[in-house]
Amino acid sequence: MEQVILIRFSEIHLKGKNKGYFLKLLYTNIKTALKEFNKVITPIQNRVVVSDYSLDDEQQIIDEIKKVFGVYSVSVASVLPSSVDDITNFCKNLEVSGSFKVDCNRADKTFPIKSNDMAKMLGGVILDNNPNAYVDVHKPETVVYIDIRENGKTYIFDRIIYTYGGMPLGEYRDGLLLLSGGIDSPVAGFQMAKRGLRQDILHFDSYPYTSPQAREKVISIAKQIKTYIGCKYMYIVSMSKLQEEFHLHCKEEYAITLLRRAMIKVATILCEKHNYKTIITGESLGQVASQTVESITVTNSMAGNIPILRPLISFNKDEIIKVAQEIDTYETSILPYEDCCTVFLPQNPVIKPKIAIAEHEETRIPLADLIAQAIENIIVMEL
Ligand code: ATP
Ligand code: MG
Repeated sequence: MEQVILIRFSEIHLKGKNKGYFLKLLYTNIKTALKEFNKVITPIQNRVVVSDYSLDDEQQIIDEIKKVFGVYSVSVASVLPSSVDDITNFCKNLEVSGSFKVDCNRADKTFPIKSNDMAKMLGGVILDNNPNAYVDVHKPETVVYIDIRENGKTYIFDRIIYTYGGMPLGEYRDGLLLLSGGIDSPVAGFQMAKRGLRQDILHFDSYPYTSPQAREKVISIAKQIKTYIGCKYMYIVSMSKLQEEFHLHCKEEYAITLLRRAMIKVATILCEKHNYKTIITGESLGQVASQTVESITVTNSMAGNIPILRPLISFNKDEIIKVAQEIDTYETSILPYEDCCTVFLPQNPVIKPKIAIAEHEETRIPLADLIAQAIENIIVMEL
């Protein structure tokens, strides 16, 4: 009996005029995710089928498919020709004990027996051959799924593994993720990728105030989220000179506000240069002084026409940690290396900064030149 992996996708999201485009994208993304494995991938109506793989690879293949956004669920299925006799014979040999039900889906409307009648008939066959089995349609221990597809094949399985759903990752790297060494920003990248936004990464450090290990830590987080966010490049920009100038010449309580504004300015310039359409950050309202509505307003004003997406704005810390653990970045994120935001930290950072004051503080230093210099010294890494 041939065994395959059946992939379903979030149809609701793939409706409308663009359905064909999204399906193609999803198919390409599945192919890319499974490129390391020997297998055959076949698109059928509303499903993708992975076949001819080594059984030893099965779990790994499923794990990789789970990371493809736009995939809704996965099942390991036996495949039969769609004939009443073949399906009935298969069910005769099923070993079932305890409560069960048969769930039949007749996508192939030319199949001669309707779903409900087929389910009843096969339920009877299973009962006849399994003295310890009984039917419970509400809370069965076992569900026998019969999926009769339009390609003349029927897929039978007993388990549906639900995945992230969402939208397939886009063709172009449209987003620029501001990735720190913290817990939040990798989760922010993941959340936006789930909505189809492919991203590259921008990290700021403050070498030599921050250590090479701190940089290595962020690079390893970047590699961990690569499969999810579909990134290719990581940019590293040093903020040390800017931070020194802020420290020497500007109001101490504005140090973080000014640093964050400079970060957004650098990000915006990179967006314009490399065609990224949006900036993503891991901010969550009220988490720290720089994440109040007033602080957000003051940093936003540096972004010009580039929107800043903050997918975690309403997340609680424990909700963020849960996702970080799920995507395996948490353990790296909590390694105790300093971030550029933690050097020259003011005693009392301003909680409700004002744009006019920030702009006035910025006139005390040659901001544009310092930003241009920072960008000139950018490190571009291929991940
Ligand atoms: P995180 O856990 O993501 O570091 P945080 O709670 O420490 O977030 P902040 O330090 O205020 O919060 O940073 C808010 C957001 O700004 C981060 O989620 C990230 O998107 C961006 N950011 C902060 N520091 C850096 C950095 N060194 N490089 C790139 N982006 C940064
Ligand atoms: Mg941080």
